[in-house]
Amino acid sequence: MHDDERGTPAPVPGDAGPVWDLVVVGAGPAGAATALGARQADPALRVLLLDRADFPRDKSCGDGIAPLVVDALSSVGAGDVVEGWTPVTRLELSRGTSRVGRPLARPVWVMPREVFDARLVQHAVSAGATLRRHRVRSVVSTPNAVVVDDTVRARVVVGADGAHSVVRPAAGLPAVRRRALAIRGYAPTPDARRGTQQIVYGDRRQPSYAWAFDRGDGLSNVGYGELLGAEGETPSRTLLLEELERLVPGTVADGDHWWGHHLPLSDWRYEQPDGPVLLAGDAAGLINPMTGEGIYYAVASGILAGRAAAQAIDAGAPATAGRRHRASVRGLLGRHLRHTFVSSRLSDVPAFVEAGIRASDRDQRVFDDLVEIGLGQGRITPRLAAGLAGGLAAGWAADRRARPGPGACPTTTHVPR
Ligand SMILES: Cc1cc2nc3c(=O)[nH]c(=O)nc-3n(C[C@H](O)[C@H](O)[C@H](O)COP(=O)(O)OP(=O)(O)OC[C@H]3O[C@@H](n4cnc5c(N)ncnc54)[C@H](O)[C@@H]3O)c2cc1C
Repeated sequence: MHDDERGTPAPVPGDAGPVWDLVVVGAGPAGAATALGARQADPALRVLLLDRADFPRDKSCGDGIAPLVVDALSSVGAGDVVEGWTPVTRLELSRGTSRVGRPLARPVWVMPREVFDARLVQHAVSAGATLRRHRVRSVVSTPNAVVVDDTVRARVVVGADGAHSVVRPAAGLPAVRRRALAIRGYAPTPDARRGTQQIVYGDRRQPSYAWAFDRGDGLSNVGYGELLGAEGETPSRTLLLEELERLVPGTVADGDHWWGHHLPLSDWRYEQPDGPVLLAGDAAGLINPMTGEGIYYAVASGILAGRAAAQAIDAGAPATAGRRHRASVRGLLGRHLRHTFVSSRLSDVPAFVEAGIRASDRDQRVFDDLVEIGLGQGRITPRLAAGLAGGLAAGWAADRRARPGPGACPTTTHVPR
């Protein structure tokens, strides 16, 4: 379905302009991974990568790069993106007086998105994608091609344009309803937090948490995020920073580069309509609702979108790309997303968060299971379920001990003279 000569797209009968095989809107992790997946599946595919920004560009993020991200990128020849950055090997979780700090089963990287995304885009360009700076405003499907901004034509379009995607409505999907808002900045790393990712759960909204992730270069990525209410009320920047300072004291005064952004959270079921318009990453509403992690899903769904597009185009049936993409994403993430959905609903209840922390403190394997759900592939294992039940029971027992029962004597009594 494509020309022998790469670079000059061939006209499609019935349409005026030339046609790219694949146009990817957005060159963040999802878009760059889409280009890599497509070019790996078919090295002759003509891929145009559009982004409104020049690279390197910053992105509001906690900068936590899970090991699964590196695994996925290694499968398309880009596993070296984290090179030169010192991995973090320890995670601390706390809520109120409940606390656990343990080694991570696999290290996590914390590197600025400004660096990570630029390296990934460079990989996509080296793999043969054409990168252009362009802000996309409209995507329309016609019988012969998908038309971007009335000028650029493609057999398949992938929307990888983030939380406020303009491609999503063109794919036939409504905006993601369940969203969080988070702010991040950079602050010096105190000695006590070296080599650590620290997460402190809040009590203003459920779920909410503040974080301090050591980048390993003297600075930490620090931030705070919370679930947005159905009523649509948005917390102010001042409030977000106050919560961060309350939960991780000493971060705000010395911090800079503050930047807030929405997180479209994943649902019980992953949706992707049939047709030649695909979605990946945040545009697809793929952010872990328990932890706010989205880079693994962005990279994994991007690679799959690129492959689905290449297969559909090579089969002479671009309109089958949506069906192929839906099947492969559900195959990879379907069960995990259902387990994450349940976990996130449980973590709306503070007692469950504390039970998870207590159970993780008792057993490294429960801790590992919990981390795996948060980072992108895990599920609620029988061990984790049993740990949560035990943690809940321990919490209730502690509450009962702390509360005086009927007829019990108060431990201290003030008798006025
Ligand atoms: C504060 C915060 C902390 C987070 N922390 C973490 C973390 O520690 N770990 C983690 O895994 N995830 C984290 N996430 C989530 C993570 O940032 C996203 O899931 C991830 O960036 C998704 O990648 P993406 O490629 O889908 O979208 P993006 O990274 O948003 O990239 C979208 C790209 O599309 C471009 N674009 C947008 N609109 C257009 C348009 N109309 N035309 C052309 N180009 C366009 C943008 O310029 C951008 O380059 C965090 C998110 C936030 C907000």
